[in-house]
Amino acid sequence: ADGTRALFMLFGGTGDLALRKLYPALFNLYKKGSLSKHFALLGLSRKELSDEEFRAKIMTSIADETADQQVATEFVSHFYWKSHDVNNMDHYQDLKKIGNQLDDQYQTGGNRVFYVSMAPRFFGIVAQNLQSQHVLSENGGFNRLVIEKPFGRDYQSAKELNDQLNSGFQENQIFRIDHYLGKETVEAIPVLRFGNPLLEAVWNQNYIKDVQITLAESLGVEDRAGYYDTAGALRDMIQNHTLQIVSYLAMDQPNSFVDTAIRAEKVKALESMEIYTDQGVKDNFVRGQYAGDEDHPDYRHESGVPVDSNNDTFAAGKIVFNNPRWGKTPFYIRSGKKLADKQGRVDIEFKKPLVDIFAKGTGTPGELQKNVLTLEIDPRVGLSLTINTKDSKQGLHTETVPLDYLQSDNRAAQVPLPYERLFHDILNGDGTYFASWPEVAAAWHFVDPVQQVWDTQQPDFPNYQQGSMGPTAADELLARDGNAWFYRG
Ligand code: NAD
Repeated sequence: ADGTRALFMLFGGTGDLALRKLYPALFNLYKKGSLSKHFALLGLSRKELSDEEFRAKIMTSIADETADQQVATEFVSHFYWKSHDVNNMDHYQDLKKIGNQLDDQYQTGGNRVFYVSMAPRFFGIVAQNLQSQHVLSENGGFNRLVIEKPFGRDYQSAKELNDQLNSGFQENQIFRIDHYLGKETVEAIPVLRFGNPLLEAVWNQNYIKDVQITLAESLGVEDRAGYYDTAGALRDMIQNHTLQIVSYLAMDQPNSFVDTAIRAEKVKALESMEIYTDQGVKDNFVRGQYAGDEDHPDYRHESGVPVDSNNDTFAAGKIVFNNPRWGKTPFYIRSGKKLADKQGRVDIEFKKPLVDIFAKGTGTPGELQKNVLTLEIDPRVGLSLTINTKDSKQGLHTETVPLDYLQSDNRAAQVPLPYERLFHDILNGDGTYFASWPEVAAAWHFVDPVQQVWDTQQPDFPNYQQGSMGPTAADELLARDGNAWFYRG
């Protein structure tokens, strides 16, 4: 196959994300033939670089993926550099000219991907200037805009950003990156659900007791305090990644597997989440900030963090859906830094039989346990279901055993990088694994009241030990419903 034709304009071309993630992903696509010889990439930032200097940076960036030096050299020959200040209109005139030249030289078919990998305050400015300065391709190719996270810091700012993007791009041209949606296990959720009637038949409040989503990090704030201290776990992990995963788990079956149909169902699910009152927030959300120990500072003494910071490094909450599928079944979510382990997972707890004919009473050897379906997202990719069976001893006692599938190392090595999948989808115009605007809006509508309550109340921080699974209040949140976190670190 010829692969896709396109010219990329990458704003923030020497940034951390571009060098660590974006170029290796593009290189892998190139090696697999998804990017044709008819592609070029124009790197942009204020830096003055020659094409040769830029190509040398790309060579270093893709070194881990490079087996064949010849192929790497070929790949980087498609890269060009232009020093560009996003606020300088003259510079967009240059972009227009260079863009047309590269289109001709590489026969890109006029297809353009504008990737904004810069600080979020530039997202809207770039989109507007691309439009007003006529940098968009006008000869029949596609124009697609890729936006990094975060998408706003509340509904209002997200709406303003979206309006700015809409000045030059329609919704189906905008790809809001959520790299969790490029992960194998997350992408597999729709197939697991809608490809297996035995699961989908019980995927509702009648059979599922509760759903738990954990996105735990073992690292602390590292060197990103400048950004993180203005965001916090709720904005950085819950509003986007966690609620996106929730949407694939909670949605109804789309009428076909195309992005427009899938997005419509995701939005319906997100819009049916109950929005909490102030009291509801207090009852259903927990925040935390990590304490120090002998060897490590507490969050407030990390470099770059104000000593009086009330920022949340942990957030947990309970989601209730006002819809017939989920009715009384809660979804519990949690994410935080400096937790017991790096662990991204979904645990779905099924109900016990209404009548347990094997038990002679609670806690007796015959008592049945809940079936739990676990989807492992990070760091392992896997799937497991605990089922009740008879143990091998004399007399009838029961035990649970896992039915599990764990991806082999060999197979894991073949799995595309998240950004590789997402680039592939962008080139194909497939928005299945990207957040649409109505989804982003619904997620902010849910999260904003939580943040507002937190902003107006003094927390009692620090409130959790490094290496634990967060504050005890996060356990009490479930205990009140007669539930408990299945994953305990
Ligand atoms: P970065 O600071 O490393 O890079 C930003 C780039 O923008 C640099 O190339 C810089 O030269 C350029 N730039 C700054 N001001 C400019 C101006 N006025 N005109 C032109 N160029 C200018 O940032 P990053 O870490 O690569 O992050 C980029 C985006 O990706 C951000 O939105 C961030 O939130 C997101 N992101 C980053 C990571 C990560 O691991 N780094 C992870 C997830 C999301």
